Amino acid sequence: MTDLARRISNNLSEIRERIAAAAERSGRKANEITLVAVTKYVGVDEILALVEAGCQDIGESRPQELWHKVDVLSDRPIRWHMIGHLQRNKVRRTVPLAHLIHSGDSERLFEAINQFGQEESTNSRVLLEVNVSGDQSKHGFTPETLKELVPRLDRLTHVEIHGLMGMASLTGGVEQARLDFCRLRDLRDELQPRCPANVALNELSMGMSRDFEVAIEEGATMVRVGSALFE
Ligand SMILES: *Cc1c(COP(=O)(O)O)cnc(C)c1O
Repeated sequence: MTDLARRISNNLSEIRERIAAAAERSGRKANEITLVAVTKYVGVDEILALVEAGCQDIGESRPQELWHKVDVLSDRPIRWHMIGHLQRNKVRRTVPLAHLIHSGDSERLFEAINQFGQEESTNSRVLLEVNVSGDQSKHGFTPETLKELVPRLDRLTHVEIHGLMGMASLTGGVEQARLDFCRLRDLRDELQPRCPANVALNELSMGMSRDFEVAIEEGATMVRVGSALFE
């Protein structure tokens, strides 16, 4: 094993232990939480080390980078997650590669994904990104927009909506993050009764390196962890 592989394998074990402990604190099982390893800062060698160590959910935030890595690693059993902003002109090339798109952040994007699905007779799996902290720089729907939008999503016949994705405020510490995650979970609970058949908000994708444990305590089913895996 190379030094790189050993370091990543150790980091992964440590993070899995922290996930399990946080799950236990919130009365859930570790296997109810999916760790998505975010590899936007690193290259193919690091992804290979993750896969060898048993982590097969890999997240990328830039479409071109995703295309490149999928191409190089096409013989590996990886579920790719698109977690960053997706422009509509990149839907056609990106959607077929992704197991799940976390960053469904505009009605026009959802329409483009649906259009692609109709043309190709395929369904795509997408989350609704919510700008839960209200940061100006962030993408995503406001909670108010979602309340109005969700009942109308039944017209997206080729999109399966599986849940919500959010990020905590960049300023403010872990306890501020907890409030943002709490707000996302409450929003999910509020939207649930208004969901049409193609929308089931079972997944809550929230929590990154600095705050994944509080995210799990507040109900995350998927955490997106990058830098902590590569330290
Ligand atoms: C980069 C990124 C992450 C991972 O961030 P870390 O702080 O490195 O864990 C998670 N989610 C999104 C959307 C990201 O862009």
